[in-house]
Amino acid sequence: MAQMASSRHVPVLILGGGTAGITVAARLRRADSRLGIAIVEPSADHYYQPLWTLVGAGVFPLSASRRREADYIPQDVTWIRDRVAEILPDEHAVVTAGGERITYDWLVVALGIQINWSAIPGLAEGIGTRGICSNYAAQHVGYTWECIRGFQGGTALFTTPNTAVKCGGAPQKIMYLADDAFRRQGVRDRTRLVFASPAKGIFAVEKYRRTLAAVVERKGIETAFRHHLVSLEPDAREAVLENLDTHERLTMTYDMIHVTPPMGPPDVVRSSPLADEQGWCAANKHTLRSPSYPNVFAVGDAAGLPTSKTGAAVRKQAPVLVANLLAAMQGRPLGGSYDGYSSCPVVTGYGKMVLAEFDYDGNPAESFPFDQSKERYSMWLLKTQVLPRLYWHGMLRGRV
Ligand code: FAD
Repeated sequence: MAQMASSRHVPVLILGGGTAGITVAARLRRADSRLGIAIVEPSADHYYQPLWTLVGAGVFPLSASRRREADYIPQDVTWIRDRVAEILPDEHAVVTAGGERITYDWLVVALGIQINWSAIPGLAEGIGTRGICSNYAAQHVGYTWECIRGFQGGTALFTTPNTAVKCGGAPQKIMYLADDAFRRQGVRDRTRLVFASPAKGIFAVEKYRRTLAAVVERKGIETAFRHHLVSLEPDAREAVLENLDTHERLTMTYDMIHVTPPMGPPDVVRSSPLADEQGWCAANKHTLRSPSYPNVFAVGDAAGLPTSKTGAAVRKQAPVLVANLLAAMQGRPLGGSYDGYSSCPVVTGYGKMVLAEFDYDGNPAESFPFDQSKERYSMWLLKTQVLPRLYWHGMLRGRV
């Protein structure tokens, strides 16, 4: 006899308890203490991922970026410790990997971005060994520092994939820190540093591009723009890069390689009716509401919004989503509008940072009354001391 799967109903169901899911839950709870809210999230740990750049550079231990998920589930919000396996918006339901069917009145999709390690032959089997490192996973970020700290000279290659990524600046930040570390270790003069990126230049927003191009020049970094990594041969320490315009391939030997892996929409979103053409959760770029399912909203990296995927963007999206969700519940027009704000704290060395902030149109949208395109020690303090506290005590508590 087939086993009867369990089921329950939740007024507001949030999928994913990362940066976006917890921030939205906390804000909803503050706005309405009686609203029934549940979060589906399998992980016991919550990570402040922006710190991983500094973990990979030996500034913080991994544990500084980690807290217990249980401590950040807001009061009276139900934590469903499971993985979403299927989203059925026509039935106002999701099914979990554990076989539970959860129906909802309102759905918030906050499932983040999926990292596709196996999209590059050689990467999944090589990562964490033989000089192949990445800041893009909790279990591998420690190995980045091992590679940098133990570097004896040779070629250090840093790659960016030809896909959307979270924190578009992260692939170059770790390179600037590695350059600094190599100088301190006395090996920079026998090191070739190469940055391969599918982009046409070092940064998309002109104001910050100028500064960062000067940083690349000053540090003597070689660039391979319009190039991305297509395969790795871990034993031979060889990387194959492809030119996106000519499709020519070149093989480069390296002594260490920092790989930013290919990423894409979570499979569970891509295979659902919520997906847009690229597989992200479709959402109006200002209201964050699904165009086809009025009781569904999307936020964070999983949302199909034409902006840079960052935690900073989530900080601006969450209040808009919450205002619009509450308005929709009460049958009012949606007044909240997200302008595409995103930010990238580009660390350019130990003690130096450029705080890039911009909107949908690539216009700078700066928070401070000085020229943020300059490298500053004060912005390094913001990144290392202020932003982590703002995250744990402000953003995840629904306060800022
Ligand atoms: P996440 O925080 O990743 O959360 C997604 C959640 O969904 C996870 O908890 C996951 O477990 C859960 N989930 C996934 N699949 C399922 C499923 N099937 N069922 C249930 N739950 C599921 N941002 C900045 O603003 N500034 C920075 O300097 C910065 N630097 C970064 C550096 C690195 C190395 C990295 C990796 C990221 C960086 N970011 C930075 C990006 C930032 O961390 C993300 O943009 C942000 O966490 C996005 O929030 P999210 O909630 O959409 O995704």
